[in-house]
Amino acid sequence: MTSYRALTFAPLSRVALVGGTHGNEMSGIFLTRHWLKSPFELQRSTLTVTPVLANQPAVERCVRYIDRDLNRCFTSEILQLDSKDGLPLEVCRAKELDRLLGPRGSEEGMHLIIDLHNTNANTGNTLIINNSTNHFCTHMASYIQRTLEGYECQVLALELKDSNLYDLSSVARHDLGVEVGPQAHGVVRAENMERMRKIVQTALDFVEMFNQGVEFPECDLDIYRHVRNMDYPRDADGEICAVIHPERQDRDWLPLHPGDPIFLTLEGQTIRFDGDRTVHPTFINESAYYEKKTAFSVTERVRVRLPPIHRLREGATLGEGASQ
Ligand SMILES: [Zn+2]
Repeated sequence: MTSYRALTFAPLSRVALVGGTHGNEMSGIFLTRHWLKSPFELQRSTLTVTPVLANQPAVERCVRYIDRDLNRCFTSEILQLDSKDGLPLEVCRAKELDRLLGPRGSEEGMHLIIDLHNTNANTGNTLIINNSTNHFCTHMASYIQRTLEGYECQVLALELKDSNLYDLSSVARHDLGVEVGPQAHGVVRAENMERMRKIVQTALDFVEMFNQGVEFPECDLDIYRHVRNMDYPRDADGEICAVIHPERQDRDWLPLHPGDPIFLTLEGQTIRFDGDRTVHPTFINESAYYEKKTAFSVTERVRVRLPPIHRLREGATLGEGASQ
């Protein structure tokens, strides 16, 4: 077995906890509102945790967004737009949040953003990281997975290059998206809120332990790597002409083999998966993704070896093999 050299990361003293990035995903909205009034459970000795309600106008109307999806507005291109241009509400808010929590790539921004979401898809608890090469994030996900045994948390890596980042959590040095499902949008269910709350607590415990000098040893982590999004079948007018097949509905993360049913047409015809290898679909039939032309996301399951990590010692500088 290859042994990896330890990676070092600077301690994390500033963490933002964000709810309401989508204004109808209620677990994070309820928790964030609670923490804004009563932040005691977020307190840790080595870090400051700031709760943020990301899209107040959308939360007030209980809609995902007003003008456009806020969680797709954090591209370099959008963040560089000139504010004088009469921009859509979420574009203005993205620029504001980038100033407040970043700016992205700067030294003074948040060290970690935890962004809270719900889905109506049967995903269970999902920890989303922008890239599986960030081993602070992979270790945090691994720790949450191990600590919340009996909870089952899947880890989804979007595998975005720096030039392709688009979501709110990418403003910070490290990122964690927490996606809890299934939950209808606009509805809050106690058990989902509790699951999300425990994941957040465990993530903050991890950061605290890391800051205090705990070393996290080499280990394996099973992740689902995002490959592509699969659209619904469409007719000549571009209208959706088949729905998720009943044998695939609610079967998020479970293997989809070539030839397995995926869609059912209105005429009753089964459409089968024509891929050449087994994949693992997720966000199956998420309502907010109809407009994004996504019936489900295709992922592949891979086992990643995580190198050991520990905090940068006081007085040391980030040298070879080190990472921010
Ligand atoms: Zn969301």
